Amino acid sequence: MQVEQTFVMVKPDGVKRGLIGPIITRFEQKGFTLAAISLRSIDRALAERHYGELKEKPFFGELVSYLTSGPVCAMIWQGEHAVENARSIIGKTNPVEATPGTIRGDFAMDIAGNIVHGSDSPSSAEREIGLFFGSGAGAAAAASTVPTHLIAG
Ligand code: GDP
Ligand code: MG
Repeated sequence: MQVEQTFVMVKPDGVKRGLIGPIITRFEQKGFTLAAISLRSIDRALAERHYGELKEKPFFGELVSYLTSGPVCAMIWQGEHAVENARSIIGKTNPVEATPGTIRGDFAMDIAGNIVHGSDSPSSAEREIGLFFGSGAGAAAAASTVPTHLIAG
């Protein structure tokens, strides 16, 4: 069986509000396994690369400022259908539309401060894990000969 990995990040407002623990708990309760975790600050260059596909959006400057406003908690979570399961428990992008019971539905109010990121596809997950964890992307991932988001379980 192949186990998928996804990239999840508690954004600066989530870290400041003390929500790393509750967010980790949600992932553990769902059944995910934590593969890597790093509390770190990110610079503008990394924020711009992470959200590169949004660079033409009118809110891009605000988004980069938001991401660089304080430490983030970057994580790799793994399990079956990790990407889709993570998006499901995170909830819709706009907290106004996110269902209660999801992370954004329970902990966030506004799209400009939606407290958590989750990769939107396996290829995005692989790219984002590479950006944030590089060659040290968890010992299992680094040592593996298969793509980082498909570690044999
Ligand atoms: P996600 O995959 O659900 O996080 O959503 P997107 O990939 O579409 O957008 C990435 C992030 O950009 C969102 O999580 C928000 O933090 C931010 N964002 C999206 N739309 C808006 C907006 O209209 N205004 C602002 N300020 N931020 C936005
Ligand atoms: Mg996205």
